[in-house]
Amino acid sequence: MLLRTKGTSLNIQDFIVGRVTRDPHTRDNNAILICDEQLQDINADRFNCILTSSNQDGKLNGYPAVYKVPSLDHLFEGDLVAVGNDGNIKTLYRVNSFHNTILATERCNSNCLMCSQPPRNRNDIPTLYSIYEKAIPMIPKDCPELCISGGEPTLMGELFFQMLGNIKHNLPDTEIHLLTNGRSFAWPAMAERLGALEYDRLMLGIPVYSDYYQVHDYIVQACDAFNQTIVGLHNLARHNQRIEIRVVLHQQSIPRLTRLARYIYKNLPFAEHVTFMGLEYVGYTPHNIEKLWIDPHDYMNELGEAVEFLAGQGMHVSIYNTQLCVLPEQLWKYARKSISDWKQSYLPECSRCTKLSDCGGLFTWNLKKHSEHIRPFE
Ligand code: SF4
Repeated sequence: MLLRTKGTSLNIQDFIVGRVTRDPHTRDNNAILICDEQLQDINADRFNCILTSSNQDGKLNGYPAVYKVPSLDHLFEGDLVAVGNDGNIKTLYRVNSFHNTILATERCNSNCLMCSQPPRNRNDIPTLYSIYEKAIPMIPKDCPELCISGGEPTLMGELFFQMLGNIKHNLPDTEIHLLTNGRSFAWPAMAERLGALEYDRLMLGIPVYSDYYQVHDYIVQACDAFNQTIVGLHNLARHNQRIEIRVVLHQQSIPRLTRLARYIYKNLPFAEHVTFMGLEYVGYTPHNIEKLWIDPHDYMNELGEAVEFLAGQGMHVSIYNTQLCVLPEQLWKYARKSISDWKQSYLPECSRCTKLSDCGGLFTWNLKKHSEHIRPFE
């Protein structure tokens, strides 16, 4: 699924954020018009920007615009976009999806072996903040769920809290899922500040990859990360924050998985949700595949023991990114269709599987690397 495209920009200073429409008579003050024909007939004054596949730049008459865009078919009425002065058109929010994400920053203070979006060391925070400061009030009020991701969102510092305040104010009924490594909350003031927001629709998804600090620190490639994350988790719990523990399943985490489950129950019993997640074959993973790959079929004993131990203690447990045909049937009740629509795929043999509608399938990028034990149910 296309989430960005590019054309040639005209008269755009910095960037423009708006709501796309194909209706030249709209009264929306934030409208960005998609118009592929008859540019001479439109009243361009009414729009913040015009997007067109046409190459009739002469007809754009000094208005902010991006022309010669290869295709705009992926944009639907009401989608939010950011249009840059370099001609980039990034989709910020899709009205027809439950899987919308705010990218807080590409910076990170960890460097995980299996990072799906490897960090970039450039100061993108002021620009991204400005874009979302404009976009958040335009998001439909009935948006059910939003994810905030990075990089590491807490590296925004003060802007992190301002952004959360903006979301809470504009989208009071939206569930917010914040993906963070939790290390910043080792500083009590950070957790205290978050607690002061009294944001009960906010859930923090925080990874813990091992019960042993050296293994966790190796996986995230950051010294002292385990200690900071565990202290951070306790500080957050002290301020009544809702927490999800996220465990990625691979060669480095599997050997201690059952001990990790016991550690979570004993030391992090306040976690509202624990999720065990299959490996994504994207970002750093293909480069570190020798250190990471284990066929999911080969860790089902460890996964089953960890999941059933935690569930048996009354904890809420899920399995993400794992196909039903790879899971033993007794674990199906924990399996969720967790892969976002824009990155979900199935193998050709899935088309004749009787469980297709119950199965979450694969990440599109995992079509190249997946369990050898995927077999359609007859
Ligand atoms: S064959 Fe495909 S659809 Fe069926 S359970 Fe396996 S991965 Fe899912």
